[in-house]
Amino acid sequence: MVDTLLTDAPGTQEHPSLALVNSAGDVAGGRGYDELSTPEVATAWLVARDLVRPDAVLYKHCQGRLVALRADLRDLFTAHATANVPTTSAVHALNSALTCAPGTLLLQFDPQAGFTRRADHPVTQVVEHVMAMIAEDAASLLSGDEASQLASCEADSCQRFFVRTHARRQWCSTRCGDRVRAARSYARKRSLQSA
Ligand SMILES: [Zn+2]
Repeated sequence: MVDTLLTDAPGTQEHPSLALVNSAGDVAGGRGYDELSTPEVATAWLVARDLVRPDAVLYKHCQGRLVALRADLRDLFTAHATANVPTTSAVHALNSALTCAPGTLLLQFDPQAGFTRRADHPVTQVVEHVMAMIAEDAASLLSGDEASQLASCEADSCQRFFVRTHARRQWCSTRCGDRVRAARSYARKRSLQSA
């Protein structure tokens, strides 16, 4: 299980696309983690973020599609953070996810409730709907006002992204900041000793 210090890179709560990108990687000490490693944990991950209903069931195939979307989002976020050109396939994958489920709320009529609008997706489209929501979030994050604040953590071996809460923020967490400062101070002591 990933420790709780890892769950709060700024922006993760607001942006499911950021949460998805950060759901796998390496952290301090080179320990890898993957919060979507099985269909069951992937379902729990989506339920915890209110992205699917608690009774949703994801299959291996759905989990695979989410993991593939995550890789494409990482490609796009990395290109953005490093001012590089994203791969055409990642842009294409995001656009396919955007359009794989209706993004608007459908009109429903019920004799008791009258007209209502809600997302109504057959159970077989749970993953499509989630992917469309995440892709929508990623598209607005990458192209909107917050785009300039989207950054990758500068700590060595941390692969997380975050939304900068202030212009000079370099790390996804105090933990990464502390680790970098500790490493610098160690390096300083070493160089003083060898001088
Ligand atoms: Zn970090």
